[in-house]
Order: sequence, then structure tokens, then C-alpha cells
Amino acid sequence: MHKRFGQIPRSRPGAASDIADAAQHVESSLDDAPEPDLLPDSDRFPRPGVDIPSADDAQEVVDEVDLDSVPVSQGQEEESHEGAAGGVVEGGVEYLAFYKSFRDVLRAPARNRWGIFLIKKRCVALATDMSISTGESFADCLDALAAFLYTHELYHYRFDAHCLQMEATGGLPVYRPYRRLVAKRPVHEWHEESIANFYGLKALQPSRRFLYPNAIFDYLWDLVANSPGAYAGGIDKHQRQQSALMAQQASAVFGNAGPTVWRGLIESTIRTGMGLAKPREAKLSSFLRLDNCPVYWIDWVKGGKSVLVPFAVSVAEVSNDFIKRYLAGIHDHHSDHSYYRIDNGAKVKLPNPHRADLTNGEFHNIVGMAGMTSPQFYRERVRTSVWRRGVPRTPVLPPRIGPHDKSR
Ligand SMILES: [Zn+2]
Repeated sequence: MHKRFGQIPRSRPGAASDIADAAQHVESSLDDAPEPDLLPDSDRFPRPGVDIPSADDAQEVVDEVDLDSVPVSQGQEEESHEGAAGGVVEGGVEYLAFYKSFRDVLRAPARNRWGIFLIKKRCVALATDMSISTGESFADCLDALAAFLYTHELYHYRFDAHCLQMEATGGLPVYRPYRRLVAKRPVHEWHEESIANFYGLKALQPSRRFLYPNAIFDYLWDLVANSPGAYAGGIDKHQRQQSALMAQQASAVFGNAGPTVWRGLIESTIRTGMGLAKPREAKLSSFLRLDNCPVYWIDWVKGGKSVLVPFAVSVAEVSNDFIKRYLAGIHDHHSDHSYYRIDNGAKVKLPNPHRADLTNGEFHNIVGMAGMTSPQFYRERVRTSVWRRGVPRTPVLPPRIGPHDKSR
């Protein structure tokens, strides 16, 4: 087995601050007066898709990603189900991690830092879900998840760095106008996310240095496939069309400046910075190299506990809406719990009504008996407007797993 978190390089704080200084210098020389009304909250770095608490609500905790800071999981099956897969299905990969540009180093969150931020509590919750779904260890799941997220976010850095290099030589802004344009577009036009997810999945393919269990790759592939808008495009093996559309977005700012041939020239210059591979890295100045992008865990705590709220479904929703309505469940018998026979003939145990939250074990048992994965459950939840439209489901799916519960 490879070294855990082996894809994430050791930190180089000096290199990171050099990049931030250079960016400040380059940006101050550009002819880009940002329209103030487009940045109403100019103190925070703007990025659509990133859903995090404001610094006033809690204390920010930022740690470097290394072997000493690897989170551990607690008893998985009995713990409350935190639904991190649901957060990704609704919001995209930025639910779990985000890239903060070196251009925004002075802004919150993580003031004076920039780079890749893995949101600890949600990553632990997703790795727990992955571990229960795949039967692989929590440590292996978290390791693979970190490699996936690191590579996804590294793609955002790669493009940002390429833009800085273009700006330093061309004198015209590229990155900020591009980000402003994308922020105003719907999620299915966030083409950069499709390419980032493609590289994220690619990082989990067997290589000379890294080997991840197949079941873990399949889980993350399914998560990407059920993600919103352009995020789902990451399962496509060919990203040529997405790259073309992204290059168009990044060069759109030049649409009205100069002859159309210029735009073609700029578009092709932009394209040279759109691949994420070591051979392509040569096109970046060595001080912008990929290994210089810092990686952190981040959390927001109050009284020693994370303030991030789980993306959870309630016991009542699963019993009354998912089982009885979506799966057309019919009461079967009652012993210590109520049992329902669902559309595919399987018998499922209703979650314990005396507990406030659903446990991981209950969630996985019910969803597996319904023939679904966690991401598929959350995707259907969106499609049916929380089990109200297009129910009961068609077609019916056969169960994916045997019952965990032997007491029937
Ligand atoms: Zn992203």
C-alpha cells in the first residue's frame, strides 16, 4: 500500500507567500477596475458553490494536512447519519473542499492563507458513508477522498496560476473577469468543475505509485455522476468540449476588445494552461509549480465542537415519505420494530422512532434494500421534491444488499 495522503505534497510556506506577493504585484499593474456592485461583500473571497459559516459565528481552525492531523472515525454504524453525500449531490464537490486563490489571501476565510481547504467535518462524514457503503476501511476511504479532492482543487489552482502568468505578460486581467462571469451563470455552465472532477477521478486510477480499492473508485464515480450541473460531466472520459467552453468563458472578456483574431489568439493561449499533468507543468513558471499550492484542513468550532450542521434527513422523512410514499411500502408486521414490505418485495425495518436522528446503519440498510446508493438516494430526493412528485417510483430496483438485521 502507498503512503497515506501520498498525493498531497509537503508544505512550502515560503513558496506560497512568494506567489501571493507576485500576484498582488501583477494585479496592481493590471487595467482592471472591478465594478464595486459586483463584489458586494468584498471582504470575503467570492466563490459560488462554497457554503461555509461566517467567521463571526465560530472560531476558524486551520491545520496543515499531514499524517499527524489525520482525523479518525468513531463507531460508524451507530453514529447519526450526517448525509454528506447529500451535500455534494445538491451543491457539488465544493461542499467538501474549496480552492481559495492566492489573489484573495487577505480575505476571509483563513485570512493570510490561500490554497486548498478540505472541510474536515464533512470529509470525515463522507469517508464514513463511503466506508459503510464499500466495506473498505475508514482510513483508506479518507485517503482516497483526500486524493480526489486535492486533485480537483489543484485543477482550480492550475488554471488560476496559468491566468496569472498570462496577465504578467499580457497586462490584461483574465482570472477575475472570468470568475465574475462564471459566478453569474447557472451550475450547468461551470465547465471548470467538470474538468476538475475528471482529474479528481483520474487521480484514483491505478498507477505505479498509487493503488486504491475499486469499490472506492466506484463510490466516488457514482458521487460525481449524481452531482449537480457541470460537476456531473466529470465522468465523461473526454473533456474536449468542456475545455472549449471554458476557454470561451475565460476569453469572453476580450469579446469587444480588438479584432476577432485577437480573441482566437487569447483563447488558444488560455488553452495551453488547461491540462493538469506533470508534462504540462513545464508551461508554468517554476515558482508557480503545482507542489507549491498549500493544502489545509479547515473547520469552524464553538466550545470545541464543529458548528457545521449535518445535511441530514429525519427519521420521519425516511419512514413516512421515502418508505411509505416513494417505495410504496405496506405494513408487514411488528415485533420490536415496524417492518414494511416495499415495491421490490424486500422487507425493511423502519428507523427507531424514539431516536431524534437516523443512524448510519439504519440509513444504509434501508437505502440498500431499496436498491440505491447514498448519492442516488439524494439525487432522487431532489428529483421528487422530497418524495412528493413522481411517486411511487418507476422503475422498481432490486435490493442491493442482504439485510444487516438478523432478528427478522
Ligand atoms: Zn471545484
